Amino acid sequence: MSHPHTRLAHAGCEPDPSTGAVVAPIHLSSTFERAADGSYPHGYIYGRLGNPTRKDFEEAVAGLEGGTRGFAFASGMAASMSVLQALEPGDHLILPEDLYYGVRNLVETTFARWGLRYTAVDQTDLGALEAALTPETRLVWAETPSNPQLKVVDLATIAEHVKAAGAMLLVDGTWTTPLLQRPLELGADLVLHSATKFLGGHSDLVGGVVVAKEENAFTERIAHLQQIGGAVMDPFSAWLALRGMRSLGARLRLQCENASTLAAYLEEHPRVRRTYYPGLPSHQGHATAARQMDDFGAMLSFEFDGSGEEALAAVARARVFRRATSLGGTESLIEHRASIEPEDSPTPPSLIRCSTGLEHADDLLEDLARVLGD
Ligand SMILES: *Cc1c(COP(=O)(O)O)cnc(C)c1O
Repeated sequence: MSHPHTRLAHAGCEPDPSTGAVVAPIHLSSTFERAADGSYPHGYIYGRLGNPTRKDFEEAVAGLEGGTRGFAFASGMAASMSVLQALEPGDHLILPEDLYYGVRNLVETTFARWGLRYTAVDQTDLGALEAALTPETRLVWAETPSNPQLKVVDLATIAEHVKAAGAMLLVDGTWTTPLLQRPLELGADLVLHSATKFLGGHSDLVGGVVVAKEENAFTERIAHLQQIGGAVMDPFSAWLALRGMRSLGARLRLQCENASTLAAYLEEHPRVRRTYYPGLPSHQGHATAARQMDDFGAMLSFEFDGSGEEALAAVARARVFRRATSLGGTESLIEHRASIEPEDSPTPPSLIRCSTGLEHADDLLEDLARVLGD
């Protein structure tokens, strides 16, 4: 049972030895009984330290990524925070210029005050990355395709440079899932997911997970922060995430197909200045994406040919797409990005981001025509 689609279809479905239930139950117990000799015969002590449902989820994602261990958190940001907390004051961090803005915000508002230094670089420019690497650089954070400009970086090449500099590479894999891209196989040390998005896949949970390629002092610190810091994924969210993951293979296939259809339409449309989708041969990172991804993903952005206000008004015409942030659910979402990001964000004012869902492509195309004013 090694094909990822097969593993996903069975995620969290080891028959329960006490009942034969095909789907594992949700273990809500906050505490676990000790044996007469004071030991913990099943390895569980207390719900914050470890929980069987959370463990099933952690093992499922770690297995799909080809990692040795997963750590599930209460959100993608809690996962990000624990990785950053595992660094030392004085360590240097490299972020991409275009990335999920919450991570940059967290670094700027909190970790910079605690002595973490960082540089934001356009990681598509290897010279810029090289120049930013210093002997103090401990971690390089990458996101490909990036949010919301879908910049693609060559992970295997970046991993070589990062390794040569003695640093670690973390890839935020939220947009790609282990089905489309496996950063650990390309040389990354850590991969992070917001399980809120494609893994959960139904816009009904908030969660996050970090997977490590190998266990070392740094991942021990992440484990410690998970248990002592306590920003853990709750059992119900872990169960929902596993339930969602079982259909990820089928969902993603259709979602990628829809994204590709919409991108081709947008690229030809006169009211669209620019379409950002790595599946388009005109995209900056098309060749790299074709090499390192199994499909081009279900996220795309485009620049409306007008002002930021006109782009916001265009989004207001959507009827099939839901106007909401987030991504990866069964329903398509559309979002005017600049109005949700901080003012200093590099996102173009008329950029509109879409997460494509499972609707029929014809309905989505008709809706985009309405958005564009046809
Ligand atoms: C949503 C998201 C996050 C943050 O995850 P939460 O679950 O919302 O905390 C991080 N990275 C990317 C790429 C995301 O899309």
